[in-house]
Amino acid sequence: MSLGRSSRMAARVPTVRDLLASGDRSFSFEFFPPKTDEGERQLWRAIRELEALRPTFVSVTYGAGGSTRDRTVDIVERLAHETTLTPVAHFTAVNHSVRELRHLIGRFAGAGVRNILAVRGDPPGDPTGEWIKHPEGVEYAEDLVRLIRQAGEFCVGVAAFPYKHPRSPSIESDTEYFVRKCRAGADYAITQMFFRAEDYLRLRDRVTAKGCDTPIIPGVMPVTHYSTIARSEQLSGAPFPPELARRFEAVAHDPVAVRELGIEHAVEMCRTLLDEGAPGIHFITFNRSSATREVFQALAPAMAGT
Ligand code: FAD
Repeated sequence: MSLGRSSRMAARVPTVRDLLASGDRSFSFEFFPPKTDEGERQLWRAIRELEALRPTFVSVTYGAGGSTRDRTVDIVERLAHETTLTPVAHFTAVNHSVRELRHLIGRFAGAGVRNILAVRGDPPGDPTGEWIKHPEGVEYAEDLVRLIRQAGEFCVGVAAFPYKHPRSPSIESDTEYFVRKCRAGADYAITQMFFRAEDYLRLRDRVTAKGCDTPIIPGVMPVTHYSTIARSEQLSGAPFPPELARRFEAVAHDPVAVRELGIEHAVEMCRTLLDEGAPGIHFITFNRSSATREVFQALAPAMAGT
């Protein structure tokens, strides 16, 4: 596929690959496309507040079943044209034929987007339901990586799962297919959220043991509400670590103290990750800036010292 003018326009945009190769620690923020006007205002407030921190890149998720396709493209396009930020577009294979996938990749290029995070996506409705491939689509994220690579000069990220993907029968098969996905052409990976630094470090060790050195950026979400603990399995793929749950239980009656502990824990965990050589931190923001900003500011000396 020829991208013509689009690829020339996109050539000026930095890639996450180049930014990681520069040796600096990467720090990035993840947003999702909101459904309401108020949500849209909240998103752009958060973007403007976090832009001041000059992140390495920001990413925008792609709704289940391709439900936010146009909104994801609109937001990344605005990020590319109206801000100083480097946008990464999440992109899924759900409900799309290869023809549609190619067309969308062309739209991203046309919007000046050179960075795509290729994830398979979950079935719409029940994310744990049966995965059914589009009859003319692709089966795995690995195929999506190849498709994007064939389409032009994109930098491609993929997903990694510290506790293994819920559909993977074993940690071994999860690692094996993750490495295949990297070898298909992924430049870097971002993990699902997790709450213990050791869980990221074990994933990295497993991948390194297979001879794969694709940089894996930890995905971090500061706990700001006690209810997150109950949703941990759904969010991260594993129950909340019991020793940490006990620390939160002790302050569960006090929402301010829960938030403070959540920030303190995120800072502690990020410091360990950076000390252990993680290439950066990807913050899942849920379109709010304040908790992420507080964690980032506490970490700023560690990030600057790299
Ligand atoms: P794959 O890599 O295809 O893996 C899916 C399963 O198949 C795994 O069990 C894997 O081990 C197995 N597998 C892979 N290749 C093979 C093979 N060749 N043969 C046999 N088995 C294989 N979802 C969204 O809908 N929108 C988003 O924007 C989004 N962003 C995300 C961002 C991050 C950082 C992460 C971690 C997840 C994100 N997700 C998103 C969720 C993701 O789409 C789901 O978790 C999905 O179920 C798995 O995606 P994947 O890319 O890891 O799939």
